Amino acid sequence: MNLVFLGPPGAGKGTLAIRVVDLLKIPHISTGNIFREAIAAKTRLGLKVKEIIESGGLVDDITTIELVRERLGHSDTAGGYILDGFPRTIPQADALAVFSKLDYVVNFDLPDTIVIDRLSGRRVCRKCGFNWHAAFNPPSKEGLCDKCGGEVYIRDDDKPESIKKRLEVYRSQTEPLIAYYREKGNLVDIDASPQVDAILVNFKKALKLS
Ligand code: AMP
Repeated sequence: MNLVFLGPPGAGKGTLAIRVVDLLKIPHISTGNIFREAIAAKTRLGLKVKEIIESGGLVDDITTIELVRERLGHSDTAGGYILDGFPRTIPQADALAVFSKLDYVVNFDLPDTIVIDRLSGRRVCRKCGFNWHAAFNPPSKEGLCDKCGGEVYIRDDDKPESIKKRLEVYRSQTEPLIAYYREKGNLVDIDASPQVDAILVNFKKALKLS
């Protein structure tokens, strides 16, 4: 099953994706994770995108489309994939339609006030990628992941100025994709405000998996 997870930053796309990987045995492809890994490894791609990502802007379409086109060519996507954070613009969606066919686009619906609360408290494990929250779900020892012992940190783009910019970018450049996919007929709306277990139940119902 070929899936796109669409929604504002902090909507829980990555958290649900981890559960859906288990359920459907398909890979989770997050363009944000790929860029962050490239930045950490100081590759050419990483050096090119570092500043723009940390400020909350979007990487250019040509670079991002090429990255996803290449990734979807790997054999592990033969049974499907979850694309998380791509497409983020209409040109990206047009390009994706040329090289892959989507089954569903899952639209995570969440108001800005909740997005800001979630992102400003988000703490991420550098080792396993688990998302903690400083107020709602803190690790038992500050700065250390309960799951794997890795270092828990604040993403550079989760700082207040970048959060504001990312939300503006989302509403202006990415939100138009909701109408784009609704018109194509493969959009599924999910209320992203409950806990992940409840979202998973709604997800399965919407995709007729249970
Ligand atoms: P995410 O982890 O999905 O929130 O992505 C983190 C950052 O990576 C975004 O704020 C963008 O700077 C960049 N990024 C991720 N996916 C894309 C995309 N499809 N197009 C452009 N930039 C992207």
